[in-house]
Order: sequence, then structure tokens, then C-alpha cells
Amino acid sequence: MNVVRTTPPRPLDVTAVFPQLAPLARTATRLHPRRGAPSAHDSSIGGPLLWPADDPWPHCDAPHEGGDHALAELRLRQRIRASEAMYPDGDPHVPQYTPEEQAVLDRLDSDETWHDSTWLEGPVALLPLAQLYVRDIPLLRPPAQAGADLLQVLWCPFDHPPEKYMPRTVLVWRSAAAVTDILTSPPEPPLVVEDYVPEPCVLAPEQVTEYPSPMELSKELREQIGDWSIWQAADAGVDSSYAPYPDSFYGSHLSVAPGWKVGGWPMWGYTDPAPRPCPACDTPMDPLLSIDTFEWDSSNRSWIPYEDQATTSSTDPRYRDLMRPTEIQIGGGHKQQIYFCPAAPEHPHIELMQ
Ligand SMILES: [Zn+2]
Ligand SMILES: [Zn+2]
Repeated sequence: MNVVRTTPPRPLDVTAVFPQLAPLARTATRLHPRRGAPSAHDSSIGGPLLWPADDPWPHCDAPHEGGDHALAELRLRQRIRASEAMYPDGDPHVPQYTPEEQAVLDRLDSDETWHDSTWLEGPVALLPLAQLYVRDIPLLRPPAQAGADLLQVLWCPFDHPPEKYMPRTVLVWRSAAAVTDILTSPPEPPLVVEDYVPEPCVLAPEQVTEYPSPMELSKELREQIGDWSIWQAADAGVDSSYAPYPDSFYGSHLSVAPGWKVGGWPMWGYTDPAPRPCPACDTPMDPLLSIDTFEWDSSNRSWIPYEDQATTSSTDPRYRDLMRPTEIQIGGGHKQQIYFCPAAPEHPHIELMQ
């Protein structure tokens, strides 16, 4: 990994104003996905998995409907984007499209959907979503399984009603050293929901400190954080435009990091905080992975890494790619959260939309 992303320090030390928050500090690892060409030996989003050639590839047996694009066409566009990215604007060596490629790009641009109805018959091969090596993200908690040091997250790129309107994930832990013969051409679903196909991204993991979402705090603490006079008395230098709602300053800039991340505190908002008991042993589950639509938005720009601040004018053509590098979109701009059992990480995971 040669990319580095650095989150600026928070605008103020919130524990100096509210010391009761100090014991609630948690470390999260922001993944900072950025378009690239990861290999099976890298941590990645949407990159190739280090998958043994003789291991069966997971499939989803649920009934499916609603796919909107042929994966082969989206893969072609990904390859074209990757090759264009190698040439700066105006470089005369930019590859020309063949008529077939141009026809595919035109069809994708037109948002016209087409597919063969037989494509949804039978089990659907899962797509690689994320691959996380413990060496890059030491916060990960592998199960007690010999040498487990690599977490692979795959998903079925369709909604799964009635229980979920988001993809269904499968988590696989394995020992990287045990994989000698790598599966180079895994099966792929012919048809997909475009929002659930990740662009290949390399990662730049960075640890940050988080505090709970305002919605998860005790009533007493929530009232204090919403009391502007306490912020004023602490002379914390918070912009007075936040005076009517200082809790939103806390929520946007001091508590939970936006974007793809491992661990930390969950973001709430789509629903109120809900208990997450382990389905196998009832232990309250911990956040494992947050799959986010946006790395930041206009309400939380203080989380934009230093390295990306030069391109954070919305008129910069790179802005959109930085804000939504993976192209994943959950529920029109939400996030999909995966939780694991801290008592026994091998217990089944759960997932929530937020
Ligand atoms: Zn499925
Ligand atoms: Zn459990």
C-alpha cells in the first residue's frame, strides 16, 4: 500500500468539554478507498480475492429479481475507466474505443436496461466486495481458527426482500499463507444491480478516535451536548452558527467518522439505535464493517483527508470520484453495517441499513 490518507485533527477535544465521553472513546479504521488496481495480495474494495483454486465459490440460492445491468458491460466500463486513468487529459495516446465498446458505453449512458430473463434462473455467484488483511487493519478480530489473518467479504448483488432491501453478505476468514494456488477466474453473476458492483479500489487504512452518535448517548449527556451555554462556558471556539443546535456540531464533526470503516461506533439515523444481540449467544454485537455510499458530504467536510482537500471543490472533476470512490450506493445514500459477535467471532454476523 503506497497511498496515505490523513484525517485532520477534530476541531476540538470534545472530552475537555464533556469528560464523561472519555471512557466511551473507540478506535475505528477508516479504509479510505481510492480507485486503483489492487491484486489478490492487497487489501481492497472490489478487487480480486486471494481464493484457493480448489475452494467452492459461494452462491446465493434466494429468489432474485430486479437486476438492471449485464455485469460484463459494467466490467468493460471499469476496464476503460482504468485505462483512461493512466493518461492525463489531452494525452494523444488515450485509447480509442472499438465500435463494440462504444455501443456498450452508449447503452450504459442511456440507462437502458437489457437482459435475458433466463439469467436469473438458479443460484447467483457472489461478487467480491472487500478483502481486508489483518496486517493492514490490526483492529480486526479473527476467529479462533488456525492462522486466520484475512477477512473476505462477498455479497449477492441484489436486494433480498422481504427481510432486506440490500445485498446479502457472506464473510470468510482464512489464512493467507495457506493459499498457494489462487483461483484466477471466479464465476460471476451475468446480471446485477449496478449500485452493488464496486469499482476496484486500493485502501489507505487510518486509525481515528470516535465517540458515540448523539442518538446513543444517555438522555442526560444528550441534553448537555445540546446546551449551548456549556460549550460557551468551555470557551471551545465552536462557530456560533451552531448555537441553536450544538448537538449537530458534535454529531457531524466530533463523534462518528463517515465513509467505509472497520470498528468504531455505528452511525444511526435511518432508524433509532436498536439492540443487536448475537443470534447464536445473545451477546451484544460490535460493528465490524461500515459499507458507505459517501466518504463525506456537505455536513461533515472536516473529515476530508488533507491529501484530498485540494480537489474538494465540487467543480473539480475528481470530486465525485473521491466522494463516492466505490460507486456503491445503499438505499439511495445510506450505509450497510455488518456486526459481529465479540464473544465468538465465528458466530453468524448480522447487517443493518443506516
Ligand atoms: Zn441473492
Ligand atoms: Zn455470539
